[in-house]
Amino acid sequence: MPPTSDPDAAAEASACAAARECKDLPDALTELYARVDRDIRRLAPPCERCGRCCRFDQAAHRLFASVGEWAMLSQQCGAIDAAENRCPYQAGNACMARDGRTLACRTYFCHAATRLALRDIYEQYHAQIRRLHATHSVPYHYLDLTAARLPRNRFFCSNPPTSCR
Ligand code: SF4
Ligand code: SF4
Repeated sequence: MPPTSDPDAAAEASACAAARECKDLPDALTELYARVDRDIRRLAPPCERCGRCCRFDQAAHRLFASVGEWAMLSQQCGAIDAAENRCPYQAGNACMARDGRTLACRTYFCHAATRLALRDIYEQYHAQIRRLHATHSVPYHYLDLTAARLPRNRFFCSNPPTSCR
């Protein structure tokens, strides 16, 4: 890991490295995601699958994920689209990283009718993800995957970025 004078960046990079080396956290996240998906199916929020919410420049969204989720997503799913400020896993309107997509991806729907219920689901599982990091000795950080200060491919590349090797 290269030296850095930014203590926050150094801590994030160290946590990223720990997440990438942890063999058990992805399995635990996969099991958790299955429960999230079950709850979302029960809620059945409306969605026209227009894909706009994944085009961050149009939707004015930011995408956050824990380091464990980032590690799983970036290791399982190679980037597809290199467009600036778009999720690189989107092809047309479709998500090509369905299995590895984050909790935030799984629980975001734009229609107002289910917003409160979705927030509850998100917060419930986000707390569990925090605990999973502790269980697997991976320092918890919540990463802004769309942060301008970060190299874009830090989070969306199938190859580990320098700071997270
Ligand atoms: S990973 Fe999939 S669901 Fe998440 S922002 Fe990208 S295209 Fe959208
Ligand atoms: S949640 Fe909304 S913006 Fe996102 S794909 Fe569905 S209808 Fe489109």
